[in-house]
Amino acid sequence: MDTPGAPLRRLLEWISSQDKGVRQRSGFSMSTLGVCMAKQLFAIAGYPLTNKRQPRMLLVWRLGLLIEKEVIALLRMSGDVVVAGQKEFDAADPPREGHIDGLILRDGKLYLFDVKSINKDGFIRWIQCAGESPWRAMREGWYAFDPRTIVQKDYRPVKEVNPSYYWQAQGYMQAALSREEYRTYLLHDLSEVEEALKDVAVDEKVEIALDGFYLFVYNKNDSTLYEEFVPYDADAIAERLALAQQGYEQIHGKRRSKKLTAAIREFREIEPEEKKKALVLKWQCRRCDFMQTCWADRPEIQGVKGVEPNGESKDSSSGEADG
Ligand code: SF4
Repeated sequence: MDTPGAPLRRLLEWISSQDKGVRQRSGFSMSTLGVCMAKQLFAIAGYPLTNKRQPRMLLVWRLGLLIEKEVIALLRMSGDVVVAGQKEFDAADPPREGHIDGLILRDGKLYLFDVKSINKDGFIRWIQCAGESPWRAMREGWYAFDPRTIVQKDYRPVKEVNPSYYWQAQGYMQAALSREEYRTYLLHDLSEVEEALKDVAVDEKVEIALDGFYLFVYNKNDSTLYEEFVPYDADAIAERLALAQQGYEQIHGKRRSKKLTAAIREFREIEPEEKKKALVLKWQCRRCDFMQTCWADRPEIQGVKGVEPNGESKDSSSGEADG
């Protein structure tokens, strides 16, 4: 008979064994465009992970997928028209790919959307940043913030609280604007689509609106829901993509080497902070897959081993191979 706790230990070991690490891509992932640029470049360049992922984090990601399905199911059941789940998008300069959670019909147009699950602290910060009352949101169980009513330069909610969600939304809108085939939704089989889509279709196509992007947010602590419309900002995403392109040019076609590691460190976007007279890494870095590689040049930081992990390619014997 299993000893107490054995089944859960087995479960956690199984979860850990399912972790295949960072998915190797030839370009950027749309969903992480806003994540620290150095982290993205380490991943694209194929650097090995230096931090073991906690089974707890793997469980958090799995829960996020379940919540996404639940929110989409609830939207549909309550009368929203949601189509094109997991639709693939790709774009160039720099190369990037990803899939949207779906398209939702609002005001006769389809909008891109994504579902986010977040804990209570992050949720409260987000709503406060939107200038709204988190207590009202929690009391009423639902709150929507629509920045279409404010001047774009004043817009700050998700951009300030979760920049990576902001850049993800901007990245998808920019990709859609750059490709004709992403700007309309084709009704392949009118008999299978909702009446509402038939009503707004022109030549069996429904326009995809790209003035903004919807985020549906689920508070994991108490199931409060929140909705935010993120306005498109062409200048901001152009600037972000220019930085990504600059990073991509630094690593493209190069083997892992000390020189490449140093070049990628130039793209770090998160600095350590001083706490109780010690230099410590912020949570994003402590959880980062490449933490030791990234900060090996700064051994004075707490938790950094100060030894360059061997992230070089097997065939880069000189350690400086950039061919
Ligand atoms: S450790 Fe921090 S700064 Fe370095 S790549 Fe990761 S997130 Fe970026």
